[in-house]
Amino acid sequence: MAERIYTDGNCGLSWDDSIITSMTPTPSARCPFEHFHKYREGWTDVNYGSFAGEVIPLSPDDIPDDYEVRPIVYKPEVTT
Ligand SMILES: [Zn+2]
Repeated sequence: MAERIYTDGNCGLSWDDSIITSMTPTPSARCPFEHFHKYREGWTDVNYGSFAGEVIPLSPDDIPDDYEVRPIVYKPEVTT
């Protein structure tokens, strides 16, 4: 099965949208980590899409280990 790696331009996290969970595949332009988005001070509304640029970039460490969708952590390419 081909991977479909998507990246949320707001929080910067990536996920594999080919994995079926209750959150993925995502409807277009949605982020499965939206719930964990942190907004800059004064931007507490989670009305997605209206605050592009106001989401603080997340680290994969910000997503709990038991969350259904796993953020993809890019590993440095290994050359042999
Ligand atoms: Zn996001």
